[in-house]
Amino acid sequence: VLQLVGVRKTFGAFSAVERIDLDIREGEFLTIVGPSGSGKTTLLRMLAGMEAPSEGNITLRGELINDLPANKRPTCLVFQSLALFPHKTVGQNIEFPLKVKGVPPAQRKERALELLRMVRLPEAYYGKNVMKCSGGERQRVALARAFAYDPDVLFFDEPLSALDYKLKKVLEKELKDLHKESGKTFIYITHSLEEAMVMSDRIGVMQAGRLVQVGTPEEIYTRPANRFVSEFVGEVN
Ligand code: ATP
Repeated sequence: VLQLVGVRKTFGAFSAVERIDLDIREGEFLTIVGPSGSGKTTLLRMLAGMEAPSEGNITLRGELINDLPANKRPTCLVFQSLALFPHKTVGQNIEFPLKVKGVPPAQRKERALELLRMVRLPEAYYGKNVMKCSGGERQRVALARAFAYDPDVLFFDEPLSALDYKLKKVLEKELKDLHKESGKTFIYITHSLEEAMVMSDRIGVMQAGRLVQVGTPEEIYTRPANRFVSEFVGEVN
């Protein structure tokens, strides 16, 4: 669905992302993993349209989109620090994209309730203030709102990093199931290889701005491309 050819991003003399070639397949769950500062967020920002590459081409189903702004792309970003409207209800938050699209109120509510079910929140949460929801519940609301945009591709920037271990495990499983049910393309970034191993169809490992290996969790685990990857894998065990 998305193709990167020789994509590079520099900030002054500093190269944050080095020439990357990558084919992101329709409907796959692709995780980009790597330590802090390895360039994951910069790569995601280029894919999402929040940053233009300094070199190379990004195409979406064959169409060059290097300079197409985020709001013109049929994609959506689930923010790391949740950008929910704090003084609004769960329902109002989820319905916001539907309102923007001009969906009539009755249909909006129907769709919002459907989305609540999809992210496993009770319908009674529809009228609840988002500030009265727990961290995990807010993640679910943000996810429901992202799905209300009906994007082709969803981007996730470390959505689970602030949550405790148990909740993280539950949401990992739910995200994986949601991916399967929706058939959409998920592009997920995390510094946790463990998280990547559990959820992904393929994992891309970044090291100092380079994409050093792309493969299935099994390939990464059994055939690490270099010492960096094998040490990274070793930390999970
Ligand atoms: P983290 O896991 O900590 O979020 P990351 O892998 O997502 O790290 P990036 O945020 O992509 O890494 O940053 C990669 C490198 O590029 C870092 O060294 C960062 O300081 C640098 N960088 C990112 N954005 C800018 C910017 N706007 N101007 C200058 N340098 C930047």
